[in-house]
Amino acid sequence: MEIARSVADLRRLIALWRKGDERVGLVPTMGALHQGHMALVRAARAECDRVVTSIFVNPKQFAPTEDLGSYPRREAADLEMLQAAGVDLVFIPVLDEMYPPNFSTTVRVTGLTEGLCGAHRAGHFDGVATVVTKLLIQCLPDAAYFGEKDYQQLMVVRRLARDLDIPVHIAGVPTVRDADGLALSSRNIYLSAEERRIASNLARVLRTIAMALARDPTAIAREIARGSAALQQAGFAVEYLEIRESETLAAVTSEATTRSRVCAAVRLGKTRLIDSMPIALAA
Ligand code: AMP
Repeated sequence: MEIARSVADLRRLIALWRKGDERVGLVPTMGALHQGHMALVRAARAECDRVVTSIFVNPKQFAPTEDLGSYPRREAADLEMLQAAGVDLVFIPVLDEMYPPNFSTTVRVTGLTEGLCGAHRAGHFDGVATVVTKLLIQCLPDAAYFGEKDYQQLMVVRRLARDLDIPVHIAGVPTVRDADGLALSSRNIYLSAEERRIASNLARVLRTIAMALARDPTAIAREIARGSAALQQAGFAVEYLEIRESETLAAVTSEATTRSRVCAAVRLGKTRLIDSMPIALAA
């Protein structure tokens, strides 16, 4: 497994593979890898001749009040996991390589980013869109793999790739969960034992809403009210709990369809958790 810390090294290795007509897959991450990330790697491994994983904790997607300083960093353990999974190349750019002095460009995807997490994390999706655009151009893979765990992010990345004619297939990978349903996340390590126990209620409540709406698609107001109450009762502070159209992310307020998705963000102590599920899941 090769490690590149500069764009020049990354491109040199990828150019060699391209000469051999090999298909290249990219898995962008912020490290602190878990089985959710590894599902992305496995999907890339299954579909591509070469797999590149990037590890970069992108300061631009953290608001000043957020956890950039305490975000887990575990490079040695990450590299072991990636090696065992058969990754060919790990791109670990230093900060200056991504954001040289006088870096002045922002990629902003409008329409998809104002609501849901965008309403609660100022500048977050500008930071995501900017760094993902850079990673896609730096690597120019055939396909890039993103988790449905961060569903709004997946839609933002699809849109920017289409709008900017970046010739990369954006693949979505289903959310990997712990046995009790909690979506795996690098931030789950912030949870105390008690909070970890409470956290499983998030997926349970979303699943209950998805199943209820699959049976009774017009019961959105009732199910959102019940779900919000259940989340608060369990100990979460609810940032949002909404039904959205799965591609445009438009609000769905009167009737759910198999293209609808239930989306939530909650806080548990200092930890922010997000999750979402398709309504069709329950049908
Ligand atoms: P992160 O390192 O948190 O930026 O995540 C890197 C990629 O892994 C993103 O595309 C995430 O959506 C994806 N990912 C994170 N957690 C999961 C999960 N539990 N299941 C599937 N994909 C995930």
